[in-house]
Amino acid sequence: MSFKPRTESTELIKFRFLNPRITLSTKEKKRYLNLEKGYQGEVMFDQLTEKLQNDLYILNDLCLEFNNSVFQIDTLIIAQELIYPFEVKNFEGDYYYESESFHSKLSKEEIKNPLDQLKRSKSLLRPFLKKLGIYLPVEGLVTFVNPEFTLYQAPLDAPIIYPTQLNHLMKKLNQIPSKLNYRHKKLADQLVAMHLSESPYAWKPIYTYEKLKKGIICPICFSFMLSVGDKKLVCEKCGCEEEADTAVLRSVGELKFLFPDKKITTSGIHEWCKVIESKKMIRRILLVNYRAVGERHTRYFEID
Ligand SMILES: [Zn+2]
Repeated sequence: MSFKPRTESTELIKFRFLNPRITLSTKEKKRYLNLEKGYQGEVMFDQLTEKLQNDLYILNDLCLEFNNSVFQIDTLIIAQELIYPFEVKNFEGDYYYESESFHSKLSKEEIKNPLDQLKRSKSLLRPFLKKLGIYLPVEGLVTFVNPEFTLYQAPLDAPIIYPTQLNHLMKKLNQIPSKLNYRHKKLADQLVAMHLSESPYAWKPIYTYEKLKKGIICPICFSFMLSVGDKKLVCEKCGCEEEADTAVLRSVGELKFLFPDKKITTSGIHEWCKVIESKKMIRRILLVNYRAVGERHTRYFEID
């Protein structure tokens, strides 16, 4: 089990909630799809590291600051005598390496070099660890997890793991001699405590309540859901079903996430959910699950 589990970033969640409700700019849409794809790749890598039996600490997704520079590590593995930061990439398709940069074979477009990203986080991680009194060697790797990724003209000595080498990497990690002690535990605790929950590099899309398309979005594919019968909702795209109560509560959470200052009222949630016709039903769900403040037309609900 990982020492620090991975969760979606606030930025990714925000984009998921906004994408079906407003028209994102081309740049925002691209950013959103990249975040989604990157996250999927990281989860794929987590499924492999989760199976490791060796005495290691696995910290997923760290955002740290050193000397006014922020750096992100997709996965950090602490072994007895070594620290491994991993840069996880979910690139798909054919790429080539030329004059120290990555290019898509299809579009010829230059991609941000993941080796440079790794180099940067290593160069910040080393002094960061020294400051905490840790002098273990740092050996980072760029890990490509998508089975449909190919890199042409790759330098032989680059710290890269290809999809075909993932199993071997896991075997290797499982076999390194490692016995962790309280000092490793202290380090892992410190890193978790120092993790910045919101990256300063996160995009902040602009939106207003009035401009957002109302309705309940699917928890699986984030498309709009339709109500069927009295108590059920079904997704128009993936067909998944959900109880109306659960869907309404989820939508309240979504509204709170997008608009933390907004008061939760029966009329407000009735408008926000749109597809639940009965206002009475909305009132019942809110009354059962949240603390009501005030009476009737001034009533609102406290969530926490
Ligand atoms: Zn769906």
